[in-house]
Amino acid sequence: MFKVIYLDHAATTPTDPEVVQAMLPYFTDRFGSASTIYSLGKETRSAVEAAREQVAKLIGARPDEIYFTSGGTESDNWAITGAAFANESKGNHIITSKIEHHAVLETCHFLEKRGFKVTYLPVDADGMVDPDDVRKAITDKTILISIMHANNEIGTIQPVEEIGKIARERKIIFHTDTVQTVGSIPVDVNAIGCDALSISAHKLYGPKGVGAMYLRKGTKIQRFMHGGGQESNKRAGTHNVPGIVGLGKAAELAGKSMDESIPRLTGLRDKLIDGIFERISDVRLNGHRTKRLPNNVNVSFDGIEGESIILLLDMHGICASSGSACTSGSLDPSHVLMALGLKHEEAHGSLRLTLGRENTDWDVKNVLEALPIIVERLRMMSPLYAAKKAEIAASVK
Ligand SMILES: *Cc1c(COP(=O)(O)O)cnc(C)c1O
Repeated sequence: MFKVIYLDHAATTPTDPEVVQAMLPYFTDRFGSASTIYSLGKETRSAVEAAREQVAKLIGARPDEIYFTSGGTESDNWAITGAAFANESKGNHIITSKIEHHAVLETCHFLEKRGFKVTYLPVDADGMVDPDDVRKAITDKTILISIMHANNEIGTIQPVEEIGKIARERKIIFHTDTVQTVGSIPVDVNAIGCDALSISAHKLYGPKGVGAMYLRKGTKIQRFMHGGGQESNKRAGTHNVPGIVGLGKAAELAGKSMDESIPRLTGLRDKLIDGIFERISDVRLNGHRTKRLPNNVNVSFDGIEGESIILLLDMHGICASSGSACTSGSLDPSHVLMALGLKHEEAHGSLRLTLGRENTDWDVKNVLEALPIIVERLRMMSPLYAAKKAEIAASVK
């Protein structure tokens, strides 16, 4: 059988078979609505509450601080618009970074049209936000800081604990997009000192279309969906019970496997990075070398297009992603890579490989065999690369 090597876990993960098993009864026998009082509904309600406890446990929160949503995008939208509108009387200033996920950036753009002022902090060449920049950006009108825990493209892990400390000192709500970190590395709401965070099930081997928002008790927020009284009257709508049960199970499994998965994935990641640098010239690593997600590799190859690399890797049965163009349906290079200071053509030549539970040494070996051949082939056809080589040769003479 032709085995696909899946290296795009930052985009989505396969649903764990144990998660699927846990979900199945809630599609069949246990279909009762969690909002009813007969036994069939009670059973469902206790399954939802058990999932709430599983999610809370993974991030060191209380179960009543967990709100189920339709995913990471909704959690980001809710945390940011909800905190902004509920605290408008105190001020209208929001601080975020230039490298946030679109779910955060587009929400901030929306709020700008509603009269809010947003500061988009720059990052350094490794993609790090400087906590000092956060401190300096605060005004007496600042009501919300939203800085992601780890970036989905380059894997850089932000100093969220320091940012949380600053936010607490100034009594400003701190939201962090932890979609890439929950289930992948330890996340503790009290260690970070955040008031809200976002979780997506399908990034931690759970099902798609379900997620959660953590909201610290006492944090003022507007309700998100209007209707019934579900989720403490804050997020109406009949619960996605199978999805929620799946998220709970995924959270439990992630908590159990992290001690093993972190060193294992870090080992594979470093093997990939070192292997690429040994075998291919004119390459750069995007993102911080060590303060980096255990599963993230993001590199730029001079003179060629990320899109072409992806297509050729696909012919070898390898699924990867690039920081450019077609993935988002536009020709703009990634806003994250541009924020690092990369040139357009460098950003276009980027490749993201994100490892996961099923990947093995064999997968890494295969990528390291295929990639140099692909890059060499594309560079032979690249006028951009030939021009660059000629330029270097001329400057050496
Ligand atoms: C995937 C992702 C999201 C969006 O989550 P969905 O559940 O797909 O809506 C938000 N933020 C980050 C950092 C992500 O990686």
